[in-house]
Parts: sequence; C-alpha cells; structure tokens
Amino acid sequence: RIIYQNRVGFGSFNSGGKIPLGLQRKSLRIVVTGGAGFVGSHLVDRLIARGDSVIVVDNFFTGRKENVMHHFGNPRFELIRHDVVEPLLLEVDQIYHLACPASPVHYKHNPVKTIKTNVVGTLNMLGLAKRVGARFLLTSTSEVYGDPLEHPQKETYWGNVNPIGVRSCYDEGKRTAETLTMDYHRGAEVEVRIARIFNTYGPRMCIDDGRVVSNFVAQALRKEPLTVYGDGKQTRSFQFVSDLVEGLMRLMEGEHVGPFNLGNPGEFTMLELAKVVQETIDPNAQIVHKPNTEDDPHKRKPDISKAKELLGWEPKVALRNGLPMMVQDFRQRIFGDHKEDSG
Ligand code: NAD
Ligand code: UDP
Ligand code: UDP
Repeated sequence: RIIYQNRVGFGSFNSGGKIPLGLQRKSLRIVVTGGAGFVGSHLVDRLIARGDSVIVVDNFFTGRKENVMHHFGNPRFELIRHDVVEPLLLEVDQIYHLACPASPVHYKHNPVKTIKTNVVGTLNMLGLAKRVGARFLLTSTSEVYGDPLEHPQKETYWGNVNPIGVRSCYDEGKRTAETLTMDYHRGAEVEVRIARIFNTYGPRMCIDDGRVVSNFVAQALRKEPLTVYGDGKQTRSFQFVSDLVEGLMRLMEGEHVGPFNLGNPGEFTMLELAKVVQETIDPNAQIVHKPNTEDDPHKRKPDISKAKELLGWEPKVALRNGLPMMVQDFRQRIFGDHKEDSG
C-alpha cells in the first residue's frame, strides 16, 4: 500500500522510515513527545511539511500551544495533552522522544519530576515502541559528558558526571535514558537512535528560561545588563535550531543507532558570546558578573566527525547568522506586536 506525499492518510504499519529524505514515499505516523517545546515544534514543522502525520504529546510544562497553533485544523496534525510519566497507547511508525525540560532553571525546579520524566517517561515510550514496532529516537544531551576531562568530546568519552549534584536529575536522568534505549534495542530488538544534543538556540525558546543565549538576547533587548556568571571564561558551542532538526531527521532515517553528537563545533566563552550579542543588538549593552551555578561545566565542544561521516551532516548556520533570526522572534514577543513566533 503506497501512499504518496501530500495525500492525507496513513502509511502501512511499521513502514520503518528507510526511504531517503526528499523522495516521494509513504506518509508516516510520527509521535513527537515534547513537540510543543522549542526544538520539538521546529521538528514538527519539518515533518508536517514533508507530508507526514504528526501526533504531539506534551504536558505543557515548558511547551506552549502557540508553538504549534499554526497546524490546528490540519488533518495530519494532532495535539494530546499528556504526561509521558503515564502510559500511553498509540499506533505509530516513529517516535521522536523529546519530552523533558532542557533549561537548568526548569529541570532544577522539580528534580524528582525531571528524573521521572527521563526514566519512567522514556521507559513508557520504549514500551510503546516495542509494542507497535516503531522506530524510537532519544534526544539525549552533551550533559552526559558532565564537566568533561576530554576536549572536544567524542561519543566514545564516558563522561565526568556528579551523580549526587543539583544537575544529576538531568544528566544522570539522560544517561539512564540512554541505557534504557540500548537495553530495549539489545533485549527487545527495538530500532533505536540516540542523539547527544549540544546547546541549541533559535526562535521559540522560552524567553525567561534562564539559558545563556535567551538571557543575553532578552536582556539586551530590554536594555538590562547581560548577566555573565562567574568569570565568563567557561565555553559552550551554540547550534542553530534548524541545523539540529536536520540532524535529528537524518539520524532517524539513517541506518545507525548512534549515539551521535549533534552540535556546532564553534566554541565561545560567555564573554565572547556577550560580545556577539552586543554587536547584534546593542553595542552599549552593559555586562555584570554574577556568581556561577553549582557544577557548571567549564567547557564543552562537540567532535562531530561521526555525524559528518555516517549521517553526512554538519551545521550550516554560524552564530552570527543565527542570532539575528532569534532576535527578530524575541523582539516580536517581548515588545508584543502580537505576531508570535516568526519561526
Ligand atoms: P523545551 O523545554 O522547550 O521542550 C521540552 C518539551 O517537553 C516542552 O514542550 C515540555 O512541555 C515537554 N515536557 C516536559 N516534561 C514532559 C512530560 N513529563 N510529559 C510530556 N511532555 C513534557 O526544551 P527543548 O530545548 O526543546 O529540548 C527538547 C529536548 O532536547 C529535551 O529532551 C532536551 O533534553 C534535549 N536537549 C536540548 C538542548 C537545547 O540546547 N535546547 C540541548 C541538549 C538536549
Ligand atoms: N507502555 C506504554 N504504551 C504501550 C506499551 C507500553 O506506555 O503501548 C508502557 C507500559 O505501561 C510499561 C512500559 O511502557 O510501563 C514498559 O513496557 P514493557 O512492555 O516494555 O514492559 P512491561 O509492561 O512488561 O513492564
Ligand atoms: N550563563 C551565564 N549567564 C546567564 C546564563 C548562563 O553566563 O545569564 C552561563 C552558565 O553559567 C553556563 C553557560 O552560560 O556556563 C551555559 O548555560 P546554559 O544554562 O545556557 O546551558 P548549560 O550548557 O549549562 O546547560
């Protein structure tokens, strides 16, 4: 039973998604958990645009209906308010499992809930994948490398993580989620994919989520000083959201389990990032130093050789080009000309 793109309808069950991107192929039924969030909503846009049917499962902890509202009324789109910590019965071909707060401020808000989401939520979605024979993709994180002793980080590095610290609900939670994913793969033959995502920014980030790019952009727009934590010499690598979404889709459609680092290798200190934000928004923006948070990793930069070689993927959008697209979206949302989410 072949159903071509742009036709409303479902492909045959468990069609697997082995067809190269861009070719005409069966329309898949895809669940995106956390699909009303920042990354998830951009992924949903791409999946809908290529002709698939998408079910977003989200409890709206950090996600917003506004991020997916433009799909309301599309028969290929469905939105379910559901907490992945509870079991869920659906019939689908692929599961992109993103549900989990990603910003340190959000995931530390209720650490027990964060670890339940990572462990019980992932277990439920793997149970679902096993039952219906769906392919399952986990969005893990560069945080599994902790405060890394290897730089840049390769997928073979096992990490340097504090198991009892304030970030553990997230980084140990994701490490357990990776373990569960591999155990369902080995033990129950579930087709799985693991992405380790490095810091990602772009339109639709929560404005006050406390992450560094959203903080600096909102502060510069509001004429507030940019808050640099500690001495500002710690580094991160910032990836624009469209690059990440392309990487996630290639990973899902490809033949390799992973884990794969998905990130932009361009490395910036927080002081350098503040400078780019000043150049982009307001050269007169002030900088204030604040005490740093506990267990803050000193540096982070992906080695993406594996994704380049096996997925043919690498990021295309440099920070200086991606930042203005985010600034435009933040400007509209902060100054309220009622045009949410330019995307
Ligand atoms: P986000 O907070 O914008 O999105 C997470 C979504 O999951 C939200 O819509 C939220 O409401 C939903 N959610 C949270 N707990 C849930 C639950 N128990 N049940 C159902 N829905 C739930 O964050 P994001 O930046 O879009 O991150 C998406 C995924 O990517 C997360 O798994 C995150 O760990 C991972 N990731 C993101 C980054 C990044 O820099 N953005 C980096 C590494 C990993
Ligand atoms: N599960 C789910 N949806 C399904 C199938 C399973 O939410 O379609 C949940 C189920 O409730 C269980 C978890 O996934 O808590 C793991 O399921 P599995 O069948 O692997 O384990 P078991 O139920 O045998 O413990
Ligand atoms: N940070 C900062 N000012 C802020 C928010 C964060 O200097 O207003 C720093 C933070 O200490 C960390 C880096 O920016 O070193 C990245 O923090 P973020 O919360 O964005 O993500 P993380 O990589 O820590 O998950």
